[in-house]
Amino acid sequence: MRLRMSRPIHIGDVTVGGGAPVIVQSMTKTDTRDAKATVDQIHRLEEYGCQIVRVAVPDNEAAASIPKIKPLISIPLIADIHFDYRLALLALEGGVDGLRLNPGNIADREQIKMVVLAAKDRNVPIRIGVNAGSLPKTTDGKQSTVDRMVSAALEQIELLESLDFELIKVSVKAFDVPDMVSANKALAERMPYPIHLGITEAGTPRCGVIRSAVGIGILLHLGIGDTIRVSLSSDPCEEVTAGYEILKALNLSQRGPTLISCPSCGRTEVDIIGLANAVEERLLKLEKSLKVAVMGCVVNGPGEARDADVGIACGKGRGVIFRNGEQVCTVEEADFLEVLMQEIEAF
Ligand code: SF4
Repeated sequence: MRLRMSRPIHIGDVTVGGGAPVIVQSMTKTDTRDAKATVDQIHRLEEYGCQIVRVAVPDNEAAASIPKIKPLISIPLIADIHFDYRLALLALEGGVDGLRLNPGNIADREQIKMVVLAAKDRNVPIRIGVNAGSLPKTTDGKQSTVDRMVSAALEQIELLESLDFELIKVSVKAFDVPDMVSANKALAERMPYPIHLGITEAGTPRCGVIRSAVGIGILLHLGIGDTIRVSLSSDPCEEVTAGYEILKALNLSQRGPTLISCPSCGRTEVDIIGLANAVEERLLKLEKSLKVAVMGCVVNGPGEARDADVGIACGKGRGVIFRNGEQVCTVEEADFLEVLMQEIEAF
């Protein structure tokens, strides 16, 4: 895998870029003005392994929540700002660790300068976030969406650089996967800053995880991307879980268990689908790296179960449990889940 060595920045105590491990981010879906609900949701995200969290700051009241939220959470906090530079200044005063903004939608250069100087004073990075859906208008009708995304990002990078600011992270997001991939590849060749990857408005978990895995996965495999977010119309904790699954599929993270489960077929004589889903649910918050195999029959079952850290190979109404490659016991179907979980806990 080719690694693009971006220029590292620090968002709170998290290093982004420069060869650091890829960071999994999410964004709260609560009303930021409700500090308690937002803190509660961030605590849940922390349990799932979220490493950086972003909150929307649409007005003064939301900005006023930041100093209430920040001391109660333990992961870096990014404020998402559009249009009004004063909200960025308030967020910085409130103690955010990062800003996400689109300098292109703050019209006045003096206002951008005030934000940039305040961020520089506090050593707070800014993510330039370009989205295909909100690109600046162009007079050149022939320019492709990809070219427009890259141009918009480079223009905004130049603007921050002209103010002597280099604590920059960049994202160019689109719903269209080939466009998103092409834009990020072009951008990665033309600037040194860390890149945040995501498919914007990716959809519900059923489709959004796949779109995200394809787009983010292609780029990560090329060595491009320093932070990721899987944007889903769902509980944000699902975004974090999906993010780690993408990283684990590329051997870029060891966090949490990996579940190997057979799809079941005409040979299966137990409810393997129900068991696999129940095990997955119970493993969701586990941080420990381990392989768990849930297998339906004697064809591949014993081999996979033996190769995993903990596994079960099922037969007719019964299953053999393995731990560390050794056969531990035989259990009845009604006890599959509990005995398997006991072995996982014992591992
Ligand atoms: S492991 Fe056995 S039950 Fe599962 S899909 Fe393969 S052949 Fe079918």
